[in-house]
Amino acid sequence: MTPYEKLLLENKAWAKEQVEEDPDFFKRLSSLQTPEFLWIGCSDSRVPADKITGTQPGEIFVHRNIANMVVHTDVNLLSVLDFAVNHLKVKHVIVCGHYGCGGIKAAMSSRDYKPVLNMWLRNIKDVYHIYQAELNSIKDEEQKTDRLVELNVVEQVTHLAQTSIIQRAWQTENGPHLHGWVYGLKDGIIKPVLEMTPGSYIDPLYAYEDL
Ligand SMILES: [Zn+2]
Repeated sequence: MTPYEKLLLENKAWAKEQVEEDPDFFKRLSSLQTPEFLWIGCSDSRVPADKITGTQPGEIFVHRNIANMVVHTDVNLLSVLDFAVNHLKVKHVIVCGHYGCGGIKAAMSSRDYKPVLNMWLRNIKDVYHIYQAELNSIKDEEQKTDRLVELNVVEQVTHLAQTSIIQRAWQTENGPHLHGWVYGLKDGIIKPVLEMTPGSYIDPLYAYEDL
């Protein structure tokens, strides 16, 4: 059996198990999804949103990319955000980074990853640039990486608050709450690093008045 055939076999076993536990499981989920959470996480295979939060299918709407970035020109991310906020009416948007993130490490190096990856990593380099005084003072490389992981999450949550999508929802729906979390690969524990609620400070340069 090839590795991908094993996935298909495991899928059959999983589907059977779900129906045995809850005969209406697929009937219920196929007609409706009402997730309370939008998860913006890293693509890293070691950080599966549902497993580490103990949530079930239907509970978390998920977007993942390298180093859990919120880039204001990323049509994919913005479409997911728009749909989650305006149609699914999620109550919480979570940006979850993780210690030891390969994307963060790559952005801290001087290596040429060639055009497309360089373009993506540039967004992380720009975060480093903002906090370079603090980051350059950290001598231990692992500690420096992990601090940039935390600061990157803070920046990406801030980027969310700077979108008209979130600002309009804060005004009309009094939500969603924005959360910045960092997951520890070594202990499996999530550390909250930032929370922004409706009314939180937004730099006037990015605040829309005529929403
Ligand atoms: Zn990562």
